[in-house]
Amino acid sequence: MQENRSRLTRLDELLELASIETDDCVIWPGSPSEKRYGRISGGSTGASPRLCHVIVCEHYHGPRPEGLEVRHYVCGDTKCVNPRHLCWGTRQENVDDQRRHGTWVHGEKHGHAVLTDAQVAEIRFRYTAGGVNQYELAEEFGVTQPHISYIIRGKKRGTGAEGPDRSSTADVGAG
Ligand SMILES: [Zn+2]
Repeated sequence: MQENRSRLTRLDELLELASIETDDCVIWPGSPSEKRYGRISGGSTGASPRLCHVIVCEHYHGPRPEGLEVRHYVCGDTKCVNPRHLCWGTRQENVDDQRRHGTWVHGEKHGHAVLTDAQVAEIRFRYTAGGVNQYELAEEFGVTQPHISYIIRGKKRGTGAEGPDRSSTADVGAG
């Protein structure tokens, strides 16, 4: 499972792909079909995976302004990394885009998503591991940045025990 075929890093490949001059959508081929967004790992740097469209938007449109997220304002395809299709915008603009493009997922997956325990665990793990910020996690999991902040801070509420509080699960099969 070694990948020595290229000296280019995935990041180089992504930016090279994004530099193609076209008005068509540019889809990162490494995007798993079940994910809303493409990601690339840090490769040999060991950095955490980052979202492709965020990397491209930062590269072409500057660092993320406080509180803003990436809009796919031209095409609405969340896997598209064509810098011409991307810009920074507010959450509301993003929702409006998605409504316009018919990709808006009402409530359940966006804005006020109820995250599963596994997703909460992944958010905490990824944030603790570093290399990803709260805005990126918010975007990826379809919730707001304050929601992510709440989840991360929620970790500190505990008594230090990592396990779930509910210890009543399946002790002994009484009766
Ligand atoms: Zn596009």
